[in-house]
Amino acid sequence: MLSVADAQSAIRAALQPLTTWELVPLSEALNRILAEPIRAPFNVPAHDNAAMDGYAVRAADLTPDQPTTLTVIGSAFAGHPFTGALTPGSAIRIMTGAEIPHGADTIVPQELCTAHDHTVTIPAGQKAGQHLRRAGEDLAAGSVALAPGRRLGVAELGLIGSLGIGSVRVYRRLRCVVLSTGDEIAAIGEPLAPGQIYDSNRHTLTAALKRLGCEVLDFGIVRDDPQQLRARFTDAAQTADVVLTSGGVSVGEADFIRQLMSELGAVHFWQLAIKPGRPLAFGRIKNAWLFGLPGNPVASLVAFAAFARDALRSLQGEDPVAPAESIPVTLAHPIRKKPGRQEYLRGTLERENGALVARVAGAQGSGILSSMTRATGFIVLPEAAGDLPAGTTVEFLPFAAVF
Ligand code: AMP
Ligand code: MG
Repeated sequence: MLSVADAQSAIRAALQPLTTWELVPLSEALNRILAEPIRAPFNVPAHDNAAMDGYAVRAADLTPDQPTTLTVIGSAFAGHPFTGALTPGSAIRIMTGAEIPHGADTIVPQELCTAHDHTVTIPAGQKAGQHLRRAGEDLAAGSVALAPGRRLGVAELGLIGSLGIGSVRVYRRLRCVVLSTGDEIAAIGEPLAPGQIYDSNRHTLTAALKRLGCEVLDFGIVRDDPQQLRARFTDAAQTADVVLTSGGVSVGEADFIRQLMSELGAVHFWQLAIKPGRPLAFGRIKNAWLFGLPGNPVASLVAFAAFARDALRSLQGEDPVAPAESIPVTLAHPIRKKPGRQEYLRGTLERENGALVARVAGAQGSGILSSMTRATGFIVLPEAAGDLPAGTTVEFLPFAAVF
């Protein structure tokens, strides 16, 4: 059996990311992957400006250990700068974000000042240069604000907008075929024949792919029939960058799916040290990358989370340096486990005495989707671990981070 980490690195080593990009308006760039560096065309902020409402003064005018009274000669608002210069012995009323007037070098917050008709009294103890935001302190003109490979989220879109950039080069969307296999799988709207079940994998996998920003092509359900399978697989592999199948890869399944995959390309059939979901097919058929996920609904999602997701991100051109998405938590109760497989248990988190503790949620059968809906993430138990006592530190992978 292959370890999860070894399978992940074998996949990573095989992939070649997309290189083609397209120009999209900022309003359509959410969740796309940046294909160019975004540079600041100017200093951000463009000018020295006030970090607080108050008075702009010259530090040299202030008596260090006594209050100083200065003449107020004007005011500066954000977007409406004071056009003159600050003369010795005077102050300018200033609002947050307003450009610092020529000659001023220090802001005194208004709550410290006593205003009179045309003068203001500043208390002792002000520091030269205080409460100023310097031009370029956020981003210097010409510096890289965002590097290629970055997924564009809420903050990134705001940053690009703040630079006055209205469209960005992003990698084109990854085209992904999703298809289910099995004589027993029925589509919504079809009556269930005896022994049949409705397809769930196409719905879970399609949703997971959409969350990643992929374009999804629904190739439906393919019967366990060599001719139908050959035709659909060939078509899928010519249409898409990635083909995601579920079912038909377990040992003892009608062998022709595996035979067909090998015949159409170079495909590995792995038995993984993972639970749920031992079998995984990965490789290349025609022009597409193939992920043959296990058929059991929870097993296929675990395989998606453990293998397909990072692969798809990297194919999309996303920077492979991913932030750690799982978090260390402690077990609320003991868990029985045999060493030899990395286990993904459905679980929930609670905060107890300030610490995050995890509990197993519901039945853990690899086909039981209802317990996925009661859980908020996977409790990940390492391959080598045996029985784990309450209080053991384990990793928790929140669903929100992966699906
Ligand atoms: P298989 O890997 O084809 O042997 O499938 C393993 C188990 O997963 C069987 O019980 C199948 O009925 C079930 N299964 C396979 N594909 C799907 C699907 N698309 N939706 C729901 N269950 C499935
Ligand atoms: Mg099957």
